[in-house]
Amino acid sequence: MLARQKTHHLYRTRHVLESPQGAEVIIDGRRYLSFCSNDYLGLASHPAVVRALHEGASEYGAGSGAAHLVTGHSLPHHALEEELAAFTGRPRALLFSTGYMANLGVVAALAERGDTVFEDRLNHASLIDAGLLSQARLRRYPHADMEALERQLAGDAAEHKLIVSDGVFSMDGDIAPLSRLAALAQGHHAWLMIDDAHGLGVLGPSGGGTLEHFGLGLDDVPILIGTLGKAFGTFGAFVAGSEELIETLIQKARTYIYTTALPPAIAQATRASLKLMRQEGWRREHLHQLVARFRAGAQQLGLALSPSQTPIQPLIVGDAARAVALSEALMQRGILISAIRPPTVPEGGARLRITLSAMHNEAQVDRLLEALGEILAVPAAVEA
Ligand SMILES: *Cc1c(COP(=O)(O)O)cnc(C)c1O
Repeated sequence: MLARQKTHHLYRTRHVLESPQGAEVIIDGRRYLSFCSNDYLGLASHPAVVRALHEGASEYGAGSGAAHLVTGHSLPHHALEEELAAFTGRPRALLFSTGYMANLGVVAALAERGDTVFEDRLNHASLIDAGLLSQARLRRYPHADMEALERQLAGDAAEHKLIVSDGVFSMDGDIAPLSRLAALAQGHHAWLMIDDAHGLGVLGPSGGGTLEHFGLGLDDVPILIGTLGKAFGTFGAFVAGSEELIETLIQKARTYIYTTALPPAIAQATRASLKLMRQEGWRREHLHQLVARFRAGAQQLGLALSPSQTPIQPLIVGDAARAVALSEALMQRGILISAIRPPTVPEGGARLRITLSAMHNEAQVDRLLEALGEILAVPAAVEA
């Protein structure tokens, strides 16, 4: 198996970071300009967030000691849940230890044998796994294809139907057609669950994510998933929805019940990052300016940009070997961008997944463009 992974350029290795997350990171003693973290707002190593983590640990210790339903649910967890509910404009929110676990737990709690789960083909792996692990039937529709989804919904006799989609697709950066998803869900009496891991904090005038971007609320999208390891810069995840949804999950979601609560200090740190996310709108504005600058520059270079308005700006190169070679060429130029290969993306869809962050400045984006121009020079431009 390992040899096969190597010959197909699919072998995965890890970099050991010797620094915190930042516009620049240190690997093997060398400094790299990083364009591959999900720390979109630059909060992962923000002093106020780190201070809250310290203070949280001093006050509540390093570990939570138990699951939420035993004695692991402490004051910081509870306060964070209330603040996340207010932030998303929903009656309740429930913390999970990771986004992966939230997705597994929610789908399995809501969809049982005899039900059907409908998923976009490009949904995050944790959502696909959630559909597979539930006892329900899993139907996948072509990416963002609302006609195909409508046909599947109309032709399905299940009593309970659950539609599940990423809000912002994690490897492509495009935004799901949420208004149409919500209309289809209502028309077919299906639940709609949106995993907004890459939208929260980034999209919408106040960082409310993909739902705020479209002006949708609880009635349109009853089940909202957020992860805290991306724009929030910390760790963990949450589900936000009605009182009834949250109480159902507390009773039934196995990945909530049978696992240790995340450390209370992490919850304190997240409260600090939520505050910054809400108060410092300039982070989002700066980020969107960088996205526009990157796209304009890439267009001038003739690069094959994807239709993404978000900080996720993939350059699809197709072949896994080529993606790895390009990533290595960038590393030699002091720029860190990971090559994303199958099965994370479809066969033939290997890419450089570039992510921008509010930590970057314009000169750094220009440096990225310059390096991309060097390694991806369009043949026609070279000949001319
Ligand atoms: C990262 C991600 C997850 C997983 O969240 P973790 O907290 O890292 O486990 C789930 N869904 C999407 C869309 C993601 O991008």
